[in-house]
Amino acid sequence: MSKLKIGFVGLGIMGHPMAGHILRENYPLTIYNRTRSKTKELASKGARVANSPAELAGVSDVIITIVSDSPDVEEIVAGTDGILQGIRPNSVVIDMSTISPEVERKLDDKLRAKDCTLIDAPVSGGDVGAQNATLAIMVGGERATFDRISPILQVMGKSITYCGPVGSGQLTKLCNQILCSTTLLGVSEALIFAHKNGLNPSIMIDAIKGGAAGSWQLSNIGPKIVENDYDPGFMVDLMQKDLRLVMESAGLSQVALPATSLVNQLFRSAQARGDGLRGTQILAKVIESLS
Ligand code: NAP
Repeated sequence: MSKLKIGFVGLGIMGHPMAGHILRENYPLTIYNRTRSKTKELASKGARVANSPAELAGVSDVIITIVSDSPDVEEIVAGTDGILQGIRPNSVVIDMSTISPEVERKLDDKLRAKDCTLIDAPVSGGDVGAQNATLAIMVGGERATFDRISPILQVMGKSITYCGPVGSGQLTKLCNQILCSTTLLGVSEALIFAHKNGLNPSIMIDAIKGGAAGSWQLSNIGPKIVENDYDPGFMVDLMQKDLRLVMESAGLSQVALPATSLVNQLFRSAQARGDGLRGTQILAKVIESLS
């Protein structure tokens, strides 16, 4: 059976290496990026470059998008020269951006009117996960469509989980962000408490990380805080975008999220201090400034 033709929109920090994996697995690949210069490297390796998302959709069976925020995905799918203008029946759009679950449902409705479907498949694992094809991918959409496109996701990720109907991938990713941000707040408080009480914070981390209070944030981000390393793995501005999406969904479903609301405010303070482009571990500095 011949391989599905893939279209890939959005060659940023995440999208560029992900599209590279697709090409390496010999899928026929067409790429589009708003800033055309970013298509050069993949074009030199054999990818075809489209002039618009509509043109790309016209030659693809499966269209992958990974851009910044909800309005950007809306523009690429439903805007002028968007995917909907060129898409052929029975095609699938896989949106791997982190955006609003509501917007994914609306775009799925628009695609269904063209006999196509949407899969939402946001990722966790950062730029390193994208480069090493070890992303965790959380998937929402029709089960049969998921089964059809799952081999493509396996090219980019290590852990692929079907979560339920369209929007469920985004909702799962938002749970991921609730946990990452509130856990980091606990880690920040413990480290500032340790420091102010004369403990060696590195010894504190070593003593605790294997026990009930251990976490990825404590083991991986804790040492960065101890070393005053605030370079971004994941930057505050992106976390705030995700927490905005969490709060929007929590509002619609009337869920109270007191701890997430607090950490959202503390990250806002980090942004106000000019630290939006720093790593999320800068939260420890905000806590320190309160003591
Ligand atoms: P990025 O490096 O800033 O890249 C964003 C990409 O989206 C660029 O290709 C950009 O095009 C394109 N884009 C944005 N708005 C657009 C628009 N209106 N029309 C057309 N193209 C548009 O971002 P990234 O780090 O790859 O993140 C992409 C998504 O993955 C985000 O939703 C993010 O939350 C999610 N994510 C990121 C990470 C991470 O660690 N970076 C981890 C997990 C999930 P230009 O080149 O023209 O600007």
